[in-house]
Amino acid sequence: MRNIIILLGPPGAGKGTVGSELSDILNIPLISSGDLLRENVKKCTVSGEKAQKYMDAGELVPDDIVIEMIEGRVSGEKCKEGFILDGFPRTLVQAEMLDKIISDKDALNVFYLKAGDDFLVNRLSNRRVCGNCGKIYHLVNIPPKKPGVCDVCGGHLVQRQDDNEEIIRKRLSVYRDLTAPLLDYYKKKGVFYPIPGDTDIKRMLGEIKKTVQW
Ligand code: AMP
Repeated sequence: MRNIIILLGPPGAGKGTVGSELSDILNIPLISSGDLLRENVKKCTVSGEKAQKYMDAGELVPDDIVIEMIEGRVSGEKCKEGFILDGFPRTLVQAEMLDKIISDKDALNVFYLKAGDDFLVNRLSNRRVCGNCGKIYHLVNIPPKKPGVCDVCGGHLVQRQDDNEEIIRKRLSVYRDLTAPLLDYYKKKGVFYPIPGDTDIKRMLGEIKKTVQW
């Protein structure tokens, strides 16, 4: 039995932060499709080169590129006890692909991190990420001890290229059109748990703990 957790929700709802904490607590890997894509862009792989223009515009990368990346990861040895997905699936086609690799023996739980647009725009505009280890900060709510420097590894903090208001609003509209239909998809499967995304990490983890034991 694998422990499979899907973190659903609009950009900025806290999927990456929650996923990273859960990964430490449950000792299963966090797989972020956005991080995988950014790695590919950085390394100038063929997929990365194809993906970049969509990411810069706040649009979704074509399903085949993302699906191939995720398939490669989840079938690896490290995922044999389970895994946490952040940012995948984002379309019905991706959800259907995922169904094919989840068996009846797996424990699947989908957490929907819910938050309003203005809250998300504020959170994302203030987000900074460590360019080295990926740790996420918020300039007001979770500031680094030393400005611009990661508390964990001393890496340089950067602002993501797509974390500017115009692109954030575009990403939110893409989310509503293409990803929000997945809420019903997982509700129908009876594995859907909404939790507040506009609160602190402790409270979010507390909500998740009602469903996933640790
Ligand atoms: P994220 O880091 O999850 O906010 O994703 C950043 C960008 O990567 C998104 O705006 C999309 O362009 C792309 N992306 C990430 N995950 C997916 C996915 N599952 N399907 C399509 N595009 C994705």
